Amino acid sequence: GLESRSVSAWFGSHKVLERVSLAMPAGEVTALIGPSGCGKSTFLRILNRMHEMVRGAALAGEVLLDDEDIYRHGRRPAEVRRRIGMVFQRPNPFPAMSIADNVASGLKLAGIKVGREHRDQLIEDSLRQAGLWNEVSGRLSTPGGALSGGQQQRLCIARSLAVGPDILLMDEPCSALDPTSTRRVEKTIAELRGQLTIVIVTHNMQQAQRVSQSCAFFLASHDTPGRIVEAGPTERLFSDPVDPRTADYVNGRF
Ligand code: ATP
Ligand code: MG
Repeated sequence: GLESRSVSAWFGSHKVLERVSLAMPAGEVTALIGPSGCGKSTFLRILNRMHEMVRGAALAGEVLLDDEDIYRHGRRPAEVRRRIGMVFQRPNPFPAMSIADNVASGLKLAGIKVGREHRDQLIEDSLRQAGLWNEVSGRLSTPGGALSGGQQQRLCIARSLAVGPDILLMDEPCSALDPTSTRRVEKTIAELRGQLTIVIVTHNMQQAQRVSQSCAFFLASHDTPGRIVEAGPTERLFSDPVDPRTADYVNGRF
């Protein structure tokens, strides 16, 4: 699994996260919830070493992947990102590139070379895992941009999976999708559960309850950086929140 220990983050002198410690258990789906600007996306980027690519960004604390700090001296960010994939809010396949090449592009970006036969098998396996194979198996050479939004998002999931990550980070993967496509992506997430560790940011409280087993509520204010107010099993967090602010947020009173 993945664990953050006392993670703080800054953009220049602006502190945006304060001592965030969170265990994201292996094979489970962990949901990150909280109001806009509380640092959820920043936290997600810290989890796969994308934060350091942002100009002026700084960081303190540790992130453990299977008990090893991903920020340990000498560890290569590219190697970390190969084990910890990310899917974004807007599906971002290469629109003119074929479905098959889109999936394979994940390998290329990760610097993984595979033979032709293995490549085709890997494309099929990844599309199956992402729950897209049945819809596209007969037209792998059509452009990724020709797919519906929900299909494009599952294509992006397949592209991430092709690399064989242990962890998949998802930043509001359904917020640009219609309800039907959203349900389809949620089904994929449910099927992936157990095979890999998933961390999903969502503003949709129903979605958090449908897909996640554990949940963390982040909160910031104008003069305090984002921190975790409360974390625990999703069912407990929603049915019996300890902190009144959690209760207000999950019940839509924010
Ligand atoms: P949302 O729900 O709207 O996506 P969020 O919880 O993901 O919000 P972040 O995007 O992580 O929040 O932003 C946390 C804080 O960091 C905000 O105050 C934001 O303005 C600031 N921030 C984010 N990215 C940058 C950046 N590249 N440079 C400077 N400040 C940033
Ligand atoms: Mg965000």
